[in-house]
Amino acid sequence: MSGGRDSLEYAANETLIRYDEAREFVLKSLAPPVARRADIGELLGCVAAERLMAREDVPGFTNSSMDGFALRAGDATSSSNELEVVGSIYAGDTTRSSVGAGQAMRIMTGAALPDGADCVCMIERTVVHSSRNSVSINQVMSAGENLRHPGDDVKVGQTLVEPGDELTSLRLAVLASQGFTSLMAIPRLRVGVLSTGNELVRDGRALNVGEIRDTNGPLLMALLEESGCTAVDLGVALDDPEEIIRRLSFGVAGCDAVISTGGVSVGDVDHVKMVIGELGERSARTMRVAIRPAKPFAFATVGERATPIFGLPGNPVSTRVSFELFVRPALRQMAGHRQIDRLRMDAVLDIAMPRENDGKLHLVHVVARAHADGRVHVERAIRHGSHLLSSLLDANAIALIDCDVSPVAGDVVALIVIDAERLGQT
Ligand code: AMP
Ligand code: MG
Repeated sequence: MSGGRDSLEYAANETLIRYDEAREFVLKSLAPPVARRADIGELLGCVAAERLMAREDVPGFTNSSMDGFALRAGDATSSSNELEVVGSIYAGDTTRSSVGAGQAMRIMTGAALPDGADCVCMIERTVVHSSRNSVSINQVMSAGENLRHPGDDVKVGQTLVEPGDELTSLRLAVLASQGFTSLMAIPRLRVGVLSTGNELVRDGRALNVGEIRDTNGPLLMALLEESGCTAVDLGVALDDPEEIIRRLSFGVAGCDAVISTGGVSVGDVDHVKMVIGELGERSARTMRVAIRPAKPFAFATVGERATPIFGLPGNPVSTRVSFELFVRPALRQMAGHRQIDRLRMDAVLDIAMPRENDGKLHLVHVVARAHADGRVHVERAIRHGSHLLSSLLDANAIALIDCDVSPVAGDVVALIVIDAERLGQT
């Protein structure tokens, strides 16, 4: 890279922009998802790109929903009827069997109903007489009782999945129940993660003064896996433009998206935004977003496939917030999801959340719980500096506090729910 392009030159191009605007810029820059055929075993959480219809009835044959005896309802018209036992039939038996007048056949759940029979009496309502090879049916039966009929669950021609549907465990199971083993879908995204900074140490060795451990790398890789992506470790780059270019380019070549952390602010070695500007050319934008934390943000789409590069700030709390606000929705859009945002909800404050009037949207990690009054309450706000990651461990939501409000107890605020299960924790 030629010299003389220091980060201050780029700082001059930056404007303070609203979160909505920055997010819109990112989402509009993304290329539409590309589908391919994949095995259903690889597709949990991915989005389908084709419509599939049932080609078989499920169940495919009339079978018993109970362990009991198959018989003709006409032979069980009083509360005690003794019938001849003519054998047993199990789930998986494929030879046809039949039951005549005055007869019953022992039948297990899932076994095909024998010809001639029209109902099943549950075993608990029968008494078996082994010596006489007979059974007493101790109830009045009607035709169809305790049977599962062809197509009860799925009928031929019924739509099983449509483009845009998420492939949940149950949807994959429904496809498997029809013998589908693959389908057209948007494959799991591969996302590269690069940490930048001369101060960063990856291994467990003792630190020298001035060194810190790389937290953002492991954080982002875990956040990505939680978000249904495959994380690709691009390592740690020194604050050296050549090395940053090399590692980011490697990521762009092999991944669907790349995230870097650090080097997007206005420090003298904040080369990442310059590199992103260089790689992304006209698509690149370095921003100062009117949010706190996570103000600096750089973004570009690079190469033939318009691979997005997200340049997140280096402070781990900022990295987390920036991931939630920009990266996760973008990746979900790329993966074809209809719902790209986390659960959002209003919650009532149990505490005041005073804020400085700095013109920014404040993103405050909070502890939120569902209370007996049927509402979600913000019980505690985590007062954090953007470098205090461990303080966030209890938080399960991020409150959005707009710049013109300083909410007090009893006010309602908007939440991004990070961990919905913990809303119910007591
Ligand atoms: P920067 O945006 O590069 O100026 O970094 C801002 C702050 O975040 C500095 O205190 C860095 O040391 C810290 N930081 C940057 N990258 C990481 C990382 N991967 N893990 C932990 N802290 C980091
Ligand atoms: Mg740095």
